[in-house]
Amino acid sequence: MSENFAEIAVIGAGPAGAHLATRLAESGRDTILFDPRGAWEKPCGGGVPTRALREFAFLLESSGYPRKLINRITMISPFERRITVNFKTPFAVFSRKVLNGLILDRAISAGARFIRSGVKDFSRTSDGWSLKTADGQEWRARFLVGADGAASFARRRLIGIFPQSDLALAFGYNVAMDGTDFQSEKKEDEVLIRFPKNFTGYLWAFPRPGVMNFGVASKLGERTSDELRQLLSDFVRDYYGGLMPASERMDFFGAKIPTLDRRSWSELRASGEGWALVGDAAGFADPITGEGIYFAFKSADVLAEAISHHATGGAAESAYERMWRASFGRELEQASYRLPQFYHGTFLGHLITDAMIRLARFHRGVRKTLVDALMGEQSYVTLKRDLLRRAWQII
Ligand SMILES: Cc1cc2nc3c(=O)[nH]c(=O)nc-3n(C[C@H](O)[C@H](O)[C@H](O)COP(=O)(O)OP(=O)(O)OC[C@H]3O[C@@H](n4cnc5c(N)ncnc54)[C@H](O)[C@@H]3O)c2cc1C
Repeated sequence: MSENFAEIAVIGAGPAGAHLATRLAESGRDTILFDPRGAWEKPCGGGVPTRALREFAFLLESSGYPRKLINRITMISPFERRITVNFKTPFAVFSRKVLNGLILDRAISAGARFIRSGVKDFSRTSDGWSLKTADGQEWRARFLVGADGAASFARRRLIGIFPQSDLALAFGYNVAMDGTDFQSEKKEDEVLIRFPKNFTGYLWAFPRPGVMNFGVASKLGERTSDELRQLLSDFVRDYYGGLMPASERMDFFGAKIPTLDRRSWSELRASGEGWALVGDAAGFADPITGEGIYFAFKSADVLAEAISHHATGGAAESAYERMWRASFGRELEQASYRLPQFYHGTFLGHLITDAMIRLARFHRGVRKTLVDALMGEQSYVTLKRDLLRRAWQII
């Protein structure tokens, strides 16, 4: 192979791109991975759900990448009802710089070549693709993968950007812990989720090693940026007992999350001849929780499988379409259908989020269903039925 040729070029070294590069390189594919930032603090909660830890065991097995294990969650309903739940199988919260570093280090160890530069242009050639990087290099590849996130440049060029209805807007703060604030030890290991009234989304407080991560996410266009920032500031102030932490300790961030509308799934494409999209670039995040790290890994796995069993240029791309739908696509589509009901529907005469928190106070089974729903372990399709079944045991 010549120096500026690779069999597969992956644009973006986040969880989706770097994990894909690992899988491809491990199976002997000549893979090149581009990212201008390398491992960086991507705007994110960094919450890695239990099933991701179970299916991608390297996340906890790799040493030297600190994360916080969470066994306790407090939820506050739109009517200020509160519940704290302890659970046995933890989820993890990572700094995104650490998480991205872990995955990128694995990709490089597996043999993928990493180019620390952004792809600023690409075009088709007779036998694949030609790519130009921001630092002036030119590369050729047979197969092209867009793993460049929710604002994907690859997606824009290949099939067009997401419409507003397919996106959520999120803002947040990373607040350095300095030992002088008034958090109790208990809070440092506890996640807090608040469901505001008339809101398609939620606020969160996630402890990470040395940092508290706060955020708010809701459907794009539902609230103005100013309204979201106000909600977030009030939440942070509340968390610290009425006083905002000093501004030097706070890093503000904002970004979009793909949360596809239910009408978008039937026509959704994640590949075409000679190319594919993975992770956020493909639209693969849970529309209800905004959780996308698991689906970034999962779509990378599915694409790696498709490429290892089928030839690229047609068969692998078709297999990928079938496989992502069967593996997690239908589940995400169902979540899109359930989204309005989850945040605005009622259950036994109360808003669902309020009813779940009310009932959870009295019933272990409801508590489990609620936590599982937030951890991605409970099917949204059966959520209402499962709650009803458990509620009957109380009534
Ligand atoms: C505020 C917020 C909070 C969130 N919280 C959670 C959470 O707690 N848990 C969870 O599971 N999910 C969460 N998500 C979603 C999660 O961040 C994404 O789903 C996940 O990062 C998707 O991974 P990815 O690899 O597809 O994309 P990304 O992580 O976005 O990675 C894309 C990479 O592509 C690179 N790139 C971009 N353009 C180019 C280019 N032209 N050339 C080369 N490289 C390029 C970028 O530098 C980046 O490194 C949150 C999202 C937001 C915005």
